Order: sequence, then structure tokens, then C-alpha cells
Amino acid sequence: MAEGQSRPKLNSTNKDAHLIMSTRFQVIVYQWLKAIQYWLLPPTCIVCMKAGNQARDLCLDCEMSLLRIERPCKACGLPLPPGNYLSTSCGTCLAFPPHFRRLIAPYRYIPPVSSLVASYKYNRKLVNGRVLSQQFSKHLHMQYQADNFPVLLIPMPLHPARLRQRGFNQANEIARYLGRDLDIPVSRNLVKRSKKTVQQTGLNARERARNVNAAFEIKHGFRFAPETSVAIVDDVVTTGSTASELAKCLLKAGAREVHVWALARTVA
Ligand SMILES: [Zn+2]
Ligand SMILES: [Zn+2]
Repeated sequence: MAEGQSRPKLNSTNKDAHLIMSTRFQVIVYQWLKAIQYWLLPPTCIVCMKAGNQARDLCLDCEMSLLRIERPCKACGLPLPPGNYLSTSCGTCLAFPPHFRRLIAPYRYIPPVSSLVASYKYNRKLVNGRVLSQQFSKHLHMQYQADNFPVLLIPMPLHPARLRQRGFNQANEIARYLGRDLDIPVSRNLVKRSKKTVQQTGLNARERARNVNAAFEIKHGFRFAPETSVAIVDDVVTTGSTASELAKCLLKAGAREVHVWALARTVA
């Protein structure tokens, strides 16, 4: 540029063109990075270790082999008894409704899902959590076609002693993935686990209720805005008593309704 000549100012058309160019550049860089990642780390199925389907770490055969819960009760997520085509809830939920309105868990907690969840939870194999959350997100989209998504996700809290021992809360990671995918905020610090409970499996109804009674504490003085519906997010639901106890606390704090979202559920 000649001396004394001023640099031409960008008018709005120039600015727009500039912006489009930089966005195009970002897209090209992103596509290149994805291609390099694909070449360096090609998608591998987390179940059979063969090549994944498209860009996912799961192959089509293994995706089909993950056992889903067919015709679940809308309230507790357990399969409805055969021949029950008139009701969407099971007899137990009609007689003793849980504190949550609906429980959604796509998979039965049996192999390979149970081993995928176990190595995610205990050996921190995060890819398993990510792939199962991707599948779960697709399932949730179908489940809420005629219904609004809850407006807040609350990961099932771990007791601080268990969190120290495990190093991370598996439910936080699932909630973070679903929150990002479904565009729902996640609240990780609203509820604390104030009591170290034991495994619910093997306890009778009264022991289960005693075990989880007063297990949660909501931030002092917190109230939900009117009409707030929330979803508790967890990896596995066994009896549903823990989720029901947390749902009770959330309803007490003013939530309109509580849903429970878990990757898998034990079916007796
Ligand atoms: Zn596979
Ligand atoms: Zn039920």
C-alpha cells in the first residue's frame, strides 16, 4: 500500500463476505480434523471390536443384539404382562404409583449391556458411556414425539465417599451427553446424597424404603419455578426405590413432575 493511502474500511457487504469466508474455513478445518481422526482412530465396535457402523463405535449387528425392554409399563419401565393390551401401566403401578410419572430405560440390564455399563462405571471406559448415551438419546427422541422433554436434567448424585472411591459420577457424564444432544440444561449441584445406602437388590419392600429414606438433600431453601418438569438421569435402575425417593424430594421442592431416564433396567 502506497504511503499516505489509508486502508479501505470494510462496509457491511465486505463484512458479510468476510464472515462467510471464515465460517467456510472453519467448516473445512473441522471436516479435515474429522477425516484425520477417522483415519488415525477408525470407529471400532465396543462389543465385538470389529469396524463400527458409519462414524459410531458400534456395529449394526451388535446394535441389533442389545436387548430392549419391549412394551414397558409407562410408569416403572418393566415389561407389561403378556396379553395386557388395554393399559399402559402395570397392576403394581396402578395400585402403588411411584413418585415419578414415567421411567424410561431402553435396555435390559443383561450382557452385553451390563458388562458395557460395568466397565464404563468401574474401569472408566468412557467410550461405552458415550455410545450407550448416543443410543439412549435416539430412543428418547422417539419416546417424546407427542410430549415435551423435561426442562432440567438431574444426575443421580453419588455419596461423597463413593465419589472419592470411584473418581467420577457415571450419571453426570450420561446427563452431560444427553443435555448437549437434547439441548436441556443439567444441574449437578442441586441435590446431595446425604446417606450412604446399600444395594437395594435382595431387600424387601420395607427394608428398601428404610434404606433410601432421607437419602437426599436439596439445596437449602431451593424452590423450582412453577410448572417445572425434571428428569433424573442414572445408569441403571434396579428396584426403582432410590429414584422414587429422589423424585419425592424434587416434588416437595415444587417440581411439577419427575421423569426417570436410565440406560438400562433390571428385569426379574
Ligand atoms: Zn459389533
Ligand atoms: Zn409399572
